Amino acid sequence: MANKCVSCNNCGHVGWSKNRGNFLITLVLAFLFLIPAVIYEIWRRMGLGVCESCGSDAVVPSSQCLSNKPSDAGELAILLVIGIIGGSVFMVLYAMADGAIDAFKGRNDPPPQLSQRDLEKRCFYDGMSHYQNKNEYPILKDGKTLAMDKIQLDCKGSTTGKYVVK
Ligand SMILES: [Zn+2]
Repeated sequence: MANKCVSCNNCGHVGWSKNRGNFLITLVLAFLFLIPAVIYEIWRRMGLGVCESCGSDAVVPSSQCLSNKPSDAGELAILLVIGIIGGSVFMVLYAMADGAIDAFKGRNDPPPQLSQRDLEKRCFYDGMSHYQNKNEYPILKDGKTLAMDKIQLDCKGSTTGKYVVK
């Protein structure tokens, strides 16, 4: 964490170190890409920081600081606000992208096509419940025809998957 009492080897200034880099760069990064902004801000706060007078990083720890340690609460508050705004923007974008992908998929995928076999199978199950409901299963009311045989015949070449008595 920067913000330490340091003595500068470059200009001889003794004082509280500043974060490296520039807070404005963090702001610009935050508006463009959130993750690099976070990484940049962490890098800014690592180490001893730089001399508040000349900006040099040739500083060594010191205990000679007379003034009170300055606070960077203002920067942190701005970052918090940006983080919240950035987070909600990200979520909105994500939801929009998700919706767009779904719409895109929906437009391009044709509705699932049932094969002839599937249609005949559906028709067959439909026919079974048809005759079960009519109490004509497994033998039809003529007393000799197997319901399954009748269904199989009626369902041959079915185009709807629904059982229709022929
Ligand atoms: Zn200096």
